[in-house]
Amino acid sequence: MAKPKLFVFSAPSGAGKTTIVKDILKSFPDFKFSVSATTRKKRPGEIDGVDYIFITEDEFKRKIENNEFVEWEKFYDYYYGTLKKTIDENLSNGYTTIFEVDVKGALNIKKVYPDAVLIFIVPPSIDELKERLKKRNTETDEDLRKRLERAQMELSYKDKFDYVVENINLEDAKEKVKKIIEKEIS
Ligand code: 5GP
Repeated sequence: MAKPKLFVFSAPSGAGKTTIVKDILKSFPDFKFSVSATTRKKRPGEIDGVDYIFITEDEFKRKIENNEFVEWEKFYDYYYGTLKKTIDENLSNGYTTIFEVDVKGALNIKKVYPDAVLIFIVPPSIDELKERLKKRNTETDEDLRKRLERAQMELSYKDKFDYVVENINLEDAKEKVKKIIEKEIS
């Protein structure tokens, strides 16, 4: 059996990362998604244990104290973190694992797992990002403002990634990501 790999995706929210990650999981059915824990509220359509493990702030803090996270971050007043257990289970079962985390989380995963492949998805522009987030209509105005501010910060990290893929056209971006993965696993 080939050695399982870790592919870590980051991008400012609204850059199309979730759509690309879902497409990759469809194209590579043997891959597993690393389900993060979060304290943010569930969006319509999200499933507990599938999209995120939705927990309270108290539970999250307990897990921090128990050293259960490989990495965690707090932003937009919410906590997000990757559980060690999730990675260990996937790797010991031989599953290549896909992560969707923020830029700092990605770099922290790489510190612990130096072979992890980091892929950054770039949105066409901040204006376009704003439009996409508005269309998604899942955030309050205040959350939207914070997400756009954060997007600027995240973009400044892109050169630290192994691959940078521009999402100007979604289909092209999906194809580029698939090629990267095929190259890395071959
Ligand atoms: P959203 O609330 O839109 O689902 O996610 C907000 C941000 O949190 C995104 O940039 C997403 O990639 C990031 N994120 C999700 N899970 C994790 C995690 O486990 N660790 C870190 N560091 N960021 C995460």
